[in-house]
Amino acid sequence: MSAPNKSYDPVEVEALKPDAIERMRTDALAAIAAAGDLEALTHVKTAHTGGGSPLALANREIGALPPQAKAEAGKRVGQARGAVNQALAARQAELEAERDARVLVEEAVDVTLPYDRRPAGARHPLTTLSERIEDIFTAMGYEVAEGPEVEAEWFNFDALNFPPDHPARETQDTFFVEGRGGSGESGVVLRTHTSPVQIRALLERELPVYVIAPGRVYRSDELDATHTPVFAQVELLAVDEGLTMADLKGTLDHMVVSLFGEGMTTRLRPNHFPFTEPSAEMDMLCYVCRGDSVGNPDRPCRTCSSEGWIELGGCGVVNPRVLTACGVDPEKYSGFAFGFGIERMLMFRHNVEDMRDIVEGDVRFTLPFGMEI
Ligand SMILES: [Zn+2]
Repeated sequence: MSAPNKSYDPVEVEALKPDAIERMRTDALAAIAAAGDLEALTHVKTAHTGGGSPLALANREIGALPPQAKAEAGKRVGQARGAVNQALAARQAELEAERDARVLVEEAVDVTLPYDRRPAGARHPLTTLSERIEDIFTAMGYEVAEGPEVEAEWFNFDALNFPPDHPARETQDTFFVEGRGGSGESGVVLRTHTSPVQIRALLERELPVYVIAPGRVYRSDELDATHTPVFAQVELLAVDEGLTMADLKGTLDHMVVSLFGEGMTTRLRPNHFPFTEPSAEMDMLCYVCRGDSVGNPDRPCRTCSSEGWIELGGCGVVNPRVLTACGVDPEKYSGFAFGFGIERMLMFRHNVEDMRDIVEGDVRFTLPFGMEI
């Protein structure tokens, strides 16, 4: 340890002279008083009390002084720093109070102003129901397939085994964009079902094919409580080795359970469609009375007219001719398909009584369905 420097004269340390300290103090106080806002005060604080400030540097000089000089210089510097810190705190409180008062005025909310009356929108229940049905099948491994709404007559009828003179091709059932119904020339139509999407799926995809095709279809009907010329359909097609009617039935049952709950089931009634063989009408158990109204006049059911079943749509095993038209070997592959109208399903599921409510686009109809996704 080296001996104290006897020749060191504390009076000669410039930074610790009384008038130097006094100047530092007055400079700091003046700067604090001049700080107009909290941000300016932060800069003043750094400049006059920070590690590089004159007072901090002076404080550091004290350590080099001989013991007898330390007390006096320390007291001087300490008093100056105390005064500066006190002034800083006082100015900070003053500026914060000013800011709070200003914010109360500037950011005041006038609760008497009318609120934003623009109503929130809602997705159309046809869309949300269609997506819910898609979800059921994509969860089972199906893909969603889409196709054009303006479709070649070949895709809409010929490939689906409709004979050239089938009444569905007449203009009273079908909107023709080009060509004429039943004229023999192949025209262009507004698709009358989503079945052409199945044909496109078979032509474009590798086997096996599991697709669900939701979409808008057109038929020349008048708009009334139960008909609309534009409606939404969903069709399903599965083509694989060894598929049977039993797979179709199991898939239908799974769908109605997913949509209406446990205990639901379907039944098939023989019918005829050109594109399936055998074909069937599919009914689902009445989701309201679950069949209890049948033969029970004390508990009639309006939903199913006490029949216990509700007709849903058509289904069947894909006609081998359709497979052949799409280049699929019917000896090796088989498949099943079904389709139904989404409007009809919506009417069942939500007790909608008039088809026109669904298509007219009145937001008062869609709003109660909310934003179900
Ligand atoms: Zn019923």
